[in-house]
Amino acid sequence: MRKSDTPVSVERRQQRGRRVDDQAPDFRDLVENAVEGVLVHRNFRPLYANQAISELFGYAKPKEILALPILRSLFPDDCWPRMEQDYDDLIRGLRPSFVSRARGLRKDGREIWIALTQRAIDWHGAPAVAVTAFDISAQMAVEHALLQNEQHLRSILEILPQPIYIARSFDGQLLYVNRKTCLLFQQRASQLLHGKAGEFFVEPKERDDLAQLFATLHDIRDVEVRMKNPHGREFIVEMAAIAVEFGGDPAILVALNDISHRKQMESELFFQASTDSLTGIANRRHFLAQAEQEMRRSRRFARDMAVMMIDIDHFKAINDQNGHAVGDAVLQALVKRALESLRQSDILGRLGGEEFAVILPETNLAAATASAERLRQHIAKRSLIAEHNAIACTVSIGVAQLHAGDSTIDDLLNRADEALYRAKNEGRNRVETAA
Ligand code: GH3
Ligand code: MG
Ligand code: MG
Repeated sequence: MRKSDTPVSVERRQQRGRRVDDQAPDFRDLVENAVEGVLVHRNFRPLYANQAISELFGYAKPKEILALPILRSLFPDDCWPRMEQDYDDLIRGLRPSFVSRARGLRKDGREIWIALTQRAIDWHGAPAVAVTAFDISAQMAVEHALLQNEQHLRSILEILPQPIYIARSFDGQLLYVNRKTCLLFQQRASQLLHGKAGEFFVEPKERDDLAQLFATLHDIRDVEVRMKNPHGREFIVEMAAIAVEFGGDPAILVALNDISHRKQMESELFFQASTDSLTGIANRRHFLAQAEQEMRRSRRFARDMAVMMIDIDHFKAINDQNGHAVGDAVLQALVKRALESLRQSDILGRLGGEEFAVILPETNLAAATASAERLRQHIAKRSLIAEHNAIACTVSIGVAQLHAGDSTIDDLLNRADEALYRAKNEGRNRVETAA
């Protein structure tokens, strides 16, 4: 090859204003031995090829390529319309160069991926195109595998029966939402992806606390949070989150489980299990649990606590004379009237039948006795049921205060019970106080 047979770009030649080989005697060597393949052609007729390009396409020597009448066999058929378009654009000066990825065909028929740079040059006074190329098949295989992995992952996230979203770490910008997330928040994916994950939270403080927790642990499991959709519907979710990378950014992948329904069921079940169905106040079990809790609290803060035991006088007779249904109505009316007389913080429970009890937190014996006396009078002063004026209903009450020696709540309740027994024996419709 003559020195002047090396490819030189038109611009470079114009810039320098003189022949390149005058200034750069090593230029030919550089191209000849370049790791990159170099090929010059005019209208796909080969004019120059270096050793690297012949090896790239599986030919022993550049002259084998130069012997091709046209470069047709170097690229698969479906690439040609694009190659021809690129060539025309270059020669007409529409673009100075192209950088692209293309498929190449080796002499042995094997396809390879190559990175191509095509540039219009001047070749012995006439336009031509110089192509540099190198093999990127291995890199493409890795990219392809990664892409397939990502597609697998996306389809798994998409079919999961739980809402999953990915948000950018530093600002919470949503990067991915699955179908269930769209259903939960009642928004299309395109709408959600304009927003930030922070908007899902009802309480900004809860959101900030979680963000801080996540920044330390990079992993959150089984946390209950209140979230809302843009239409204002609130729900409780159980949340798990892990740190991931998404599109090159540090991100957080969040899985949600809407547990509002479960929470609602739990609270209904709790209500049913803890409430007396006739009167709506605490049943025996729930009352005793609350009494124990109150007893622990009183001990911890060294506060007073008192209880009342209440039993309706001659209730059997009320039932016998008016019927069981009226007896029930009396029980309901008595509870209503008792609640009018007691303080908000007092806890009234139905221990069974026509027996009731009250927990009086932060109350000493004298105050509890006064409260019991007010309650007794409030019940006795007029008929409990307007349409049954004849029904006189009174209660007997025993009052007791928590002692340091009480080991269980039963000790306290038993003392109140003994006082109640005395009230009955002393003639009923009265309050007796335990020592
Ligand atoms: P005293 O306590 O003054 O000694 O007499 P009493 O008549 O109230 O005593 P006792 O404990 O013997 O009677 C309680 C009655 O309460 C017996 C039962 O028929 C009635 N009773 C218990 N539970 C209910 C209920 O849920 N509804 C109605 N209507 N009556 C009930
Ligand atoms: Mg009784
Ligand atoms: Mg009774």
